[in-house]
Amino acid sequence: MKPFEYTKPKTVREALSSANKHTQYIAGGTNLVDLMKKEIDEPDQVLDITATLPDTIEEKDKGVVIGAMVRNTAIADNKAIKAHWPLLAKAILKGASPQIRNMASAGGNLLQRTRCPYFYDLTLPCNKRKNGSGCGALKGNNRMGAIIGYSDACVAVHPSDMCVALAALDAKVNIRKTDGSEETMNFLDFHRLPGNNPEKDNNLPENALITSIFVPKNNFSKHFEYLKLRDRESYAFALISVAAALDMDGNQISEARLASGGVAHKPWRWTKAEDFLKGKQATAENFAEAARIAAEDTAPLSTNAFKVPLLKGAIETALHTCLTNKA
Ligand SMILES: Cc1cc2nc3c(=O)[nH]c(=O)nc-3n(C[C@H](O)[C@H](O)[C@H](O)COP(=O)(O)OP(=O)(O)OC[C@H]3O[C@@H](n4cnc5c(N)ncnc54)[C@H](O)[C@@H]3O)c2cc1C
Ligand code: SF4
Repeated sequence: MKPFEYTKPKTVREALSSANKHTQYIAGGTNLVDLMKKEIDEPDQVLDITATLPDTIEEKDKGVVIGAMVRNTAIADNKAIKAHWPLLAKAILKGASPQIRNMASAGGNLLQRTRCPYFYDLTLPCNKRKNGSGCGALKGNNRMGAIIGYSDACVAVHPSDMCVALAALDAKVNIRKTDGSEETMNFLDFHRLPGNNPEKDNNLPENALITSIFVPKNNFSKHFEYLKLRDRESYAFALISVAAALDMDGNQISEARLASGGVAHKPWRWTKAEDFLKGKQATAENFAEAARIAAEDTAPLSTNAFKVPLLKGAIETALHTCLTNKA
């Protein structure tokens, strides 16, 4: 690991004014330290932000504000989150291991890097690590890769489980920039598709800090599911995941939310399928049709065609589970 200077600022303002282009912030360190050990990330300066950002969860009239330093375990264990946003709690509990969730912060979870094997091997080409070097996965091992929204430059997927729930729940990301100004971004605009610049995972301005995440109130707390399909039952990233939530009036669907992980460079919302379900009866036929609509826009790579039927099955199963609420 390259030597670096470690500093622990006391305030957000101090952290922002100390940052430069050779800086990395560190929160839980569960992703950054690995990247530094493998010399994929080599900052000169590491700013420990654990004392600067909020680690509180505040329920408000319109929703809940989750401080960027709240640990993943604390979000999943929080009473208000479990009562009103259980989809978020369930998605978090499907990620990583208890030890990692105890360290991982809300802000860091959004900024974790892809798990594409080429990205982690310095001997292999990877445009995300070094743009212009090529994408080894495009015609190589792309089994875990995207089935929608990718480009020839990068076919990697975003690995987070929590982010899939946040995408389904129309969350927002609160940001403080280096000039001191604040900005709120819709969660769906936060992460990027790869295009020609796969080295950029998100639209966070340089050195800006995520200060908190806002999740609006909704009527999805009774009918929800986070289904994660993976090679092993625990401690593995998703091949396909589905966050599903329904607002029901009797057997009629008033609103539907469907998002997936393991399919794209960002958490993906299946909006056409959501629109189809709105106002429909909650029947097996309609669930199957919603899954078909979602899958019709996908285009698998050379070794991940299996993900398309897996996605369809996962959407149908997740929608059925929403009704029985066995989650
Ligand atoms: C073995 C293993 C298995 C895992 N399995 C899963 C899984 O199944 N599902 C899943 O979702 N995740 C999984 N993870 C990933 C884990 O959830 C992330 O590593 C974690 O959420 C990152 O949070 P952190 O606070 O440790 O971030 P750090 O490692 O501290 O930081 C990550 C990045 O975010 C930046 N950063 C952190 N906070 C802020 C902020 N507030 N503002 C601006 N920049 C910030 C840092 O500069 C750094 O670039 C796994 C990790 C490991 C090591
Ligand atoms: S898919 Fe993206 S992360 Fe993987 S090798 Fe290609 S450019 Fe790198």
